[in-house]
Amino acid sequence: MNRKLIEELQSTPGVDLVAVTKKHTKSEIDELAKLGLRRFGENRVQEFLEKYDPAYEWHIIGHLQTNKVKYLMGKTALIESVDSRRLAAEIEKQAAKTGIIQPILIEIRISDDPNKTGCPLDEYPQLLEFVLRQPHLRLDGLMCIASHTEDQEKVAAEFDRMKELSRDLQTRVPRARTLSMGMSQDWRLAVQHGSNMVRIGTALFQDSGE
Ligand SMILES: *Cc1c(COP(=O)(O)O)cnc(C)c1O
Repeated sequence: MNRKLIEELQSTPGVDLVAVTKKHTKSEIDELAKLGLRRFGENRVQEFLEKYDPAYEWHIIGHLQTNKVKYLMGKTALIESVDSRRLAAEIEKQAAKTGIIQPILIEIRISDDPNKTGCPLDEYPQLLEFVLRQPHLRLDGLMCIASHTEDQEKVAAEFDRMKELSRDLQTRVPRARTLSMGMSQDWRLAVQHGSNMVRIGTALFQDSGE
């Protein structure tokens, strides 16, 4: 575990840490919990269910198939990766059935890479309208995965665009303040450009060399 990084993240004001624990075991999660972490992100439903522990707060951060949504109800504090109307409609349906209101983020495909996940920018306004009409969805904000590149300016521009979208959203929905962006490679840049939630996996599990 990279204790130094964990301490740095814990003392970064205004930024919530989601520890991404995909491909790591439940006992590694418990180790992180001992260091004070409580919020964990998983990207696959099956793997999440195997490690689920109600003592912690769980976020789903990966592309989600509609047929898996029903298994998540009541277990996930935040579904960060809502990227289509079809998925939003299924979460609405299952949340209504379970009698809960499900907090979600809309994931925006901010990178120009068509293989990346997320709602394309030109479809976002429509998805937003749809989400806001659903009584069992609570929109908390936006999420993105920036381009995977050494070009810092390109990544910074993507984060800035997200910040703008987040500001616009808050003029309509003041509660929807969450802006989830930044991973091991780019979280500092993301925080400089307005992120208030970072999702970090790889770097947490690296040795801090102490
Ligand atoms: C894996 C993953 C992360 C964490 O990535 P690292 O590079 O390991 O920090 C963040 N967000 C999503 C959606 C992921 O799938």
